[in-house]
Amino acid sequence: MARIKDSSIEAVKSAMEILPVVEDYVQLRKAGGTYKGLCPFHQERTPSFTVTPARGTFKCFGCGEGGDAISFVQRLDNLGEWCEQHLSNRVFLTKRALRAAAKSVHGDPQLIARCLLALDRWFVPMHFDGDAAAREAWLAFIARERLRDGPVGTAPDNHRTWDSYRVTFQGRRLALNRHLQGSSSRDITRTFRVYYALDKESNGGTVVIGSLPEHLPNTLT
Ligand SMILES: [Zn+2]
Repeated sequence: MARIKDSSIEAVKSAMEILPVVEDYVQLRKAGGTYKGLCPFHQERTPSFTVTPARGTFKCFGCGEGGDAISFVQRLDNLGEWCEQHLSNRVFLTKRALRAAAKSVHGDPQLIARCLLALDRWFVPMHFDGDAAAREAWLAFIARERLRDGPVGTAPDNHRTWDSYRVTFQGRRLALNRHLQGSSSRDITRTFRVYYALDKESNGGTVVIGSLPEHLPNTLT
């Protein structure tokens, strides 16, 4: 098949319904001829993210982000593409994690990338393959970044239900029972936490990332 022409892309755009694409990421509620939900590109508590199916467009009146079905997917898939280029198949990011990253306002987004690389290069071989050199590198990384790594005690005491700490990976339900946690901030909205699950059954052991730092809505603010 020849290279896709611009006119073909236009045809795909007009044929691609925006609603099912967005609904994959955002919970929407019908409001007249439009649909509203919480914006996936910035942190908010009242919905200002609007989808207009008749026009095939989305627009956020909070942060100004807008476009069509294709630009919506491109925007959210940036981290996904980066992961495909830089990570092996032993670190898997759930859609929920990618969604969290897309709206993250964490002060150090590069730290997310550094953590993913460290999980892939050092944690996975340390944990699943018993690689001693990887273990040293991992522990040095943790210390350098002032992170803690370990099991999650109990579900955090907020509006999230325990079920949001489970993910489905290759047909199995896994508990997000471990996290990487930053220790540099007391501000709950700035806390760095990466929740993940360990799956021994695939690829000789896989780390499944269930959530990445975002500006979590919480009952304290
Ligand atoms: Zn927005």
